[in-house]
Amino acid sequence: MADVGGDMEIASRLLSLAQDSELLIALFNPRDLLCYANAAFCGTFGVAPDERISWEQLMRRGYERGHGSRIRTDDIDAWIASARSRRGKQPFRTFEADLTDGRWIWVTETLQADGWLLCVCSDISSLRADERELRIARDAAQRAALTDPLTGISNRAHIMSQLERLLRQPRAAESPACVVGILDLDHFKRINDRYGHLAGDTVLRDFVRRVQPLLEPKDGLGRLGGEEFLLLMPDRALREAELMVTAILAAVAESRPLLESADFAYTCSAGLTLLRAGDDTAQALGRADDALYRAKEAGRNRLATKL
Ligand code: GH3
Ligand code: MG
Ligand code: MG
Repeated sequence: MADVGGDMEIASRLLSLAQDSELLIALFNPRDLLCYANAAFCGTFGVAPDERISWEQLMRRGYERGHGSRIRTDDIDAWIASARSRRGKQPFRTFEADLTDGRWIWVTETLQADGWLLCVCSDISSLRADERELRIARDAAQRAALTDPLTGISNRAHIMSQLERLLRQPRAAESPACVVGILDLDHFKRINDRYGHLAGDTVLRDFVRRVQPLLEPKDGLGRLGGEEFLLLMPDRALREAELMVTAILAAVAESRPLLESADFAYTCSAGLTLLRAGDDTAQALGRADDALYRAKEAGRNRLATKL
């Protein structure tokens, strides 16, 4: 194997091949910041060569300027919320998408355990166009099966399957914990009674808008039902997760989501627990629920933890 080259030579060869390739290639770090994009990706998404931009900013900018991915929505916030609830949640996924310039691409996303995500897209504009509508409809149905229609985030089934995957994952003793939290809006029944069910729905959507920007891609947020949400925080120490949930409670309490009642404010409570070896979902959720009950009893708008 004398002339196959050392690691550095291979790495630099891979980089120069990637740079020249017609594939669209991009690498995102665990905070979903674009760390590498080849020329084809930069050209398609309007990225400057050394630009530091997050995936979310990239999508929003493309939507505003009409380049990059074709995003079919009149509510970009809801689209982002929904896309984020599926992005970076499984080791490998593929889907078909179209670009504003009319090209169709086959997107592959490979996720490493520590959160780095490699995106490689190939141009499939000339392939099997006749069955494309069928495939698009199938993809939309698959997305819908994972999504809560009111808020656009993971539905109960999707977030529970994420929890089950975390429970199955073998964890090294020294690796950081996985924190599970149940978030429940305070006195939500009163909000519905006083302002009406539609205002209640607005509050639920607002809640998701406040929480999502504080999460990292590896975190999972799903609606368990009603005004109850499950938050999964893998690879986080308990203290770090508590700080994050404290920031969530503060962001929610500051929000004034009802245009017609400008003074209206609401709060939520949270119950946290750490996943233990041998837990099943009922045990993990049971402890988080006990903690939530304590937060409610202690006056709401706070978090409690049960280990
Ligand atoms: P607590 O602070 O103890 O959590 O009190 P709460 O009023 O928030 O809790 P409770 O469980 O008594 O009430 C939850 C209410 O949520 C009752 C139900 O009508 C309402 N709800 C459930 N799903 C929806 C929904 O999709 N939209 C709206 N607007 N309301 C919903
Ligand atoms: Mg409640
Ligand atoms: Mg509840």
